[in-house]
Amino acid sequence: MAETKEKQTYQAVIGLEFHVHLATRTKMFCGCRVTYGDPPNTHTCPVCLGHPGALPVLNEKAIELGAMAGIALNCEVADHAVFARKNYFYPDLPKGYQISQFDEPICVGGHIDVPTSDGTVRVGITRLHLEEDAAKNVHVGESGRMHGSTGSLIDFNRGGTPLMEIVTEPDIPTPEAARATANQLKAILQAIGVSEADMEKGQLRCDANVSIRNLDGSFGTKTELKNMNSFRFVEKGIAAELERQREIIEERGRIEQATMHYDPNKDEVYSLRSKEEAHDYRYFPEPDLLPLELSREWIEDKKNRLPELPAEMKKRFVESYGLSDYDAGVLTADRDLAAFYEEVAENADPKQSANWISGDLRALLNEEGIEISDSKVGPKHMIELISLVETDTVSRSAARTVLEHVFESGDAPSSIVERDGLAQTGGDELDGVVEAVIADNPDEAERVRGGDKKVVGFLVGQIMKATRGNADGGQARERLLEKLGS
Ligand code: ADP
Ligand code: ZN
Ligand code: MG
Repeated sequence: MAETKEKQTYQAVIGLEFHVHLATRTKMFCGCRVTYGDPPNTHTCPVCLGHPGALPVLNEKAIELGAMAGIALNCEVADHAVFARKNYFYPDLPKGYQISQFDEPICVGGHIDVPTSDGTVRVGITRLHLEEDAAKNVHVGESGRMHGSTGSLIDFNRGGTPLMEIVTEPDIPTPEAARATANQLKAILQAIGVSEADMEKGQLRCDANVSIRNLDGSFGTKTELKNMNSFRFVEKGIAAELERQREIIEERGRIEQATMHYDPNKDEVYSLRSKEEAHDYRYFPEPDLLPLELSREWIEDKKNRLPELPAEMKKRFVESYGLSDYDAGVLTADRDLAAFYEEVAENADPKQSANWISGDLRALLNEEGIEISDSKVGPKHMIELISLVETDTVSRSAARTVLEHVFESGDAPSSIVERDGLAQTGGDELDGVVEAVIADNPDEAERVRGGDKKVVGFLVGQIMKATRGNADGGQARERLLEKLGS
């Protein structure tokens, strides 16, 4: 898709499907705890193990969180929703069916506005429905995958975890926009607290549907891309799949509907099955659960209790801190970074705070591939650092060095300045240096007194040299000209 001359000919069509664990204490239809990393099969009961005769009891908190997510995604929350059995056989599904929602889901018809480098893209939300997660198959052997394993074990701890499926319209035009959509969705879900949405814990999973538009503008055949375990791989996987489809189209071949997998090591997509079997899940209404009846008051109450969403927070950052759209977008895309920023901005110049956090600090985080919550730099460090620059204790470039040391050690900026002799030469000390430089360079000084500005740079250079770069260039120049009366 990269070649510009082909831009008009090859137009990508992308739709995403997300599965998100809801942040409830217990499972969807039983009292078992939702846990991560506990020993296998320690949180099970007859309901989530699918024993005959065991009856599901709906988790009210899950309904509340699902509705709140729908409201935040600008969906309509239905006043009547129905749980349905989705029937299929797999070892991780002991009942032989998953309780899900089918033709009457809890939420439909929303949208999110996604910031991309080409401007804002509005991505439609087709539906949001509630279901239960399956258990987890653990494949024994080196690969950790079914293919090539020597056996499979099942951990039922995950079975029955409250799950929300969110399906977007095929509105996403580029792999980059797909990644941004996933990021935006995650930020929204985290902001309202309906999910931790930690991909590493499997709390957020994303599949992509990918096709290339036909010449007449109609949709082409789509493939489904599964198992991408980071948003970076979502972007790269879609790009690789579009590339594969483009090559087939250029050779006048036909795209086969298929399920594809992305291999990040090879940066390639591959297909496990050549022909897609048509599923027939034989959905029917779950007879053991009553339909959900949600009153307008109940829905209104959830709406009122919704906290500030990333888009609203961004607007507030622009208005109350005077930030650029870009800085506000970067800071509010990450809930923890936004909270970090606010703490700093309450105690330091808001624009300087944004520059340091969205620029220097974020670059260090990206380099190390860590989150702000795992960093040794706290708001206190940042506030102190900004004040050291503001009071001319350190130059801006020395402050960058100080930040790097804080990032590594978590030490206080002032103690690093002292330890490494990074303090800026100012005040009387700078005056002394300026006078010494004038005395050592009488000819140049005389020329400046006579109005010749060409040698000012040379003299400032001498001052910088004498202070080993620890003076502020602008300040040095100012003092010099003052003393030379020009
Ligand atoms: P299916 O019947 O295969 O489940 P759906 O119409 O339910 O397909 O759509 C599933 C997902 O695929 C949605 O995210 C939707 O936006 C996306 N999608 C639908 N058609 C296309 C297409 N031609 N190209 C890419 N994505 C598509
Ligand atoms: Zn249980
Ligand atoms: Mg579908």
